[in-house]
Amino acid sequence: MSYKTSPLTEPVYDYLLKTSLREPDALRALRAETERHPHGGMRICPEQGQLMRLLIELTGAKSALEIGVFTGYSTLSVALALPHDGRLIACERNAEWPTVGQPFWQDAGVEDIIDLRIGKAAETLDALIQEGQSATFDFAFIDGDKKNYGVYYEQCLTLIRPGGLILIDNVLWDGRLIDAADTELATTTIRTLNEKIHGDERVSISMLPVGDGLTIIRKRD
Ligand code: CA
Repeated sequence: MSYKTSPLTEPVYDYLLKTSLREPDALRALRAETERHPHGGMRICPEQGQLMRLLIELTGAKSALEIGVFTGYSTLSVALALPHDGRLIACERNAEWPTVGQPFWQDAGVEDIIDLRIGKAAETLDALIQEGQSATFDFAFIDGDKKNYGVYYEQCLTLIRPGGLILIDNVLWDGRLIDAADTELATTTIRTLNEKIHGDERVSISMLPVGDGLTIIRKRD
């Protein structure tokens, strides 16, 4: 029964949520709002948000990066787990999407923690490096445009302190990675990055079948 990860049937998944999900009211409300959004399928699942909050608690993270805000569910999730004097630099290219989440950030009282940067994430991260903020962040969540995942990974690895965490979303890419005929740029970028991280001695890793696949990466000392 335990030699491999069990397939998650709908009833078992429902049980998992029913007996373990703790979703603060502001998150629950923002999730409902996001489900009405035309791109609502892009949001992370609630148990993933809960895992991210636990990882922030476990590591005592105070400063975080997010690449890809969308409507701000993951942003709110991270911000709720950070201490009141924490900071979250949240990068999003689309100026409209985060406006969905901003009222919920305010309701939850974490809007002061969130430093939203509208623009190309690679440029925002590069500016942080140029400002001398390398190795000053404790936590990063990469969930932006997939074709730049390789760039974001290296930039986050520079910005994260030794012992800090990087989480990468959509690493199973709806099962498309195992189809060699799928050579779309997003697919090949994620495939190449997964293989690179597998052999990357700078980090310790665990790839989890949560949501669409989540790799947890710890920058080694
Ligand atoms: Ca995602």
